Amino acid sequence: MDRKERVTIDCRDSPEANCSLAISGTESEVMECAELHATTKHGMKEPGLRDQLRSMIKREAFSR
Ligand SMILES: [Zn+2]
Repeated sequence: MDRKERVTIDCRDSPEANCSLAISGTESEVMECAELHATTKHGMKEPGLRDQLRSMIKREAFSR
């Protein structure tokens, strides 16, 4: 039983984004979707985008 850790990025954590989307999944899945979402929906494309997204990741406490 090796359950993958699931993480969440919540758009409400981003002050400039008027958006309530939350993305959950493994870290690589979340980063992929969040990058797409941030660039297509929020027009973000600065080089620091991935770092900014990474700082928004929240780890769920269900790993036991
Ligand atoms: Zn959003």
